[in-house]
Amino acid sequence: MGLLLLALPLALAVSAFGGFAARRERANADQELVRELDSGASVYSGLLRDARRNAERLASSRRVAEAFAHRDQHALRTIEQADRWVILLPGAKGGLHRPDVEARFSVVHRGRTIGRVFVVPPFGRHLIRTIAGEAGLPEGRLGLLVDHRLVRERGIGRVAARPTAEKPTDLQVQALEYRAVALPLGAQRAAPALVAVRQRSEITAAADDVRRRVIGLGLGLIGALLVTAYGVAPAIARSRLSRLQRDQAERVLAHLGDGVFVVDHDGVVRLWNRAAAAITGLRAAEVRGRPAEEAIPGWRTIATFVPVADQPGQADGPSSSETVPIDVAGRELWLSMVAVSLDDDTVYAFRDATHDRRLEELRSQFVATISHELRTPLASLHGAALTLREHNLPAETQDDLLDMIAEQSNRLANLVEEILVAGQLDAGSLSVVADTFDPEELVRGVATVARSRVVAERRIDVVAPPVLPRVHGDGERTRQVLLNLLDNAIKYSPPGGRIEVRLAVVGDRLRFIVQDQGLGIPVGEQERIFDKFYRLDPDQRRGIGGTGLGLYICRELVRSMHGSIWVESETGKGTTFAFELPAEPLAVPV
Ligand code: ADP
Repeated sequence: MGLLLLALPLALAVSAFGGFAARRERANADQELVRELDSGASVYSGLLRDARRNAERLASSRRVAEAFAHRDQHALRTIEQADRWVILLPGAKGGLHRPDVEARFSVVHRGRTIGRVFVVPPFGRHLIRTIAGEAGLPEGRLGLLVDHRLVRERGIGRVAARPTAEKPTDLQVQALEYRAVALPLGAQRAAPALVAVRQRSEITAAADDVRRRVIGLGLGLIGALLVTAYGVAPAIARSRLSRLQRDQAERVLAHLGDGVFVVDHDGVVRLWNRAAAAITGLRAAEVRGRPAEEAIPGWRTIATFVPVADQPGQADGPSSSETVPIDVAGRELWLSMVAVSLDDDTVYAFRDATHDRRLEELRSQFVATISHELRTPLASLHGAALTLREHNLPAETQDDLLDMIAEQSNRLANLVEEILVAGQLDAGSLSVVADTFDPEELVRGVATVARSRVVAERRIDVVAPPVLPRVHGDGERTRQVLLNLLDNAIKYSPPGGRIEVRLAVVGDRLRFIVQDQGLGIPVGEQERIFDKFYRLDPDQRRGIGGTGLGLYICRELVRSMHGSIWVESETGKGTTFAFELPAEPLAVPV
């Protein structure tokens, strides 16, 4: 259908072009007429020149003068017959008054004009034949127009009107139509004219022939075009389809969350998609076209450890993807990567597994830490129980042991509680009550509990402004946060250090501040201490135990109460944790 729609305008164009070619053929025929007339005219003027020269010579020849002097008619006729262009007349005047006289010369004898030599072109079939022959024109193309007769080699015909001299016009000769152009051969209006003619039917036939040929050729070409188009259409469609598919693939690749890159068989990176750039921070322009070995940090590790499958999904299972570390600008990235070979190239797809990897590391640390955390109180409990059973102990020692059992089982319960809460936070099942509470009462209660856990010389001070608003939030969860922060302040400070819990109203929020004079936290670690399982001293080289869950729980609880938590700290000087929760507006005293 599409091809036919294309063929129709083409056919119209070919037909128009055929018409144009026919018109041009007619114009060419006209030009040829003018050219033929020109060449005929130049032959004619050559003949005329010769005739004049001859007439002049005759007029001054002795032979002619004597013929006139002796009135020798025979001699005069003989001379005339020798040259068709001259007419000899005796006397000085009269005789020949014709429009076709081209020149006249006097024959003078003893100072008296005794005769004249006239140059009169011999208009007739013979002259036309001579001119056409000398000009090399085919028969019938030239004619002479004398009065209303057209003289040609083959015969004479009457014409309806004189053709113009400037450009070809139509001319009717008897019943036939001609195309003709004329050139008057003399100054007078009625002077004969040289005419170049061509039958109209001949010109029309030639023009039609040209048109037919042009149209035939054009249609043939269209046919060939259609056949070719029909033949190559599937190939064109296929290449369009594959281009579309390629564009689509590129778009998909560009928007894919996974990093994708292609390395050719020479080890040169051919493709580096947007996600690859986003994950690694290496822009496509820096990587594409360069050897992978130079362009991709950690390429050797990738090439060594990432297995290349022959087909996507072939090496299914855990062995197909490999997590490999690469260092980009001092940053360690872990990439989980799969590779598949495609023709001569290898396609790598990867995602950023740094976070998962870190979590994994932390989790395994946690398992080690928690085992340790559990083992210590369990060992104490076990030891105390054995001692109590086997020995007949004094009442005082028994009390001490029972105290210790209570303390250690409390520690265990807290540990288990922490793990439970973290699990609930992960699962999103932790309930937080939307309520209000009195912050000062809460803080003082928490401080009392904390004090009971520390040696007497440790000071825990509470500082609060005289008037405080109630706070929006879950009192129990807030207590948990505060206890955690206080526990940390105690754990990570030397025995003599002072701990202060302050309350402050900041706009429509209440700020809780827990400040210690302990170890401090390096600036680079201050973000990460809120991460799950994260501990500054995972190996407990300082001998301070913990799960790395406390601050994570604090942050999640504060967030769930629409608050925020942060830390300010300087190593060796102390740490200040602060969190804010929305508060009720303070009643303005009247
Ligand atoms: P942990 O159970 O190890 O105390 P947390 O999540 O409560 O876990 O704290 C994470 C880490 O932050 C701790 O291991 C410790 O290194 C650091 N940290 C927390 N509070 C303090 C503090 N007040 N002073 C110094 N370091 C602290």
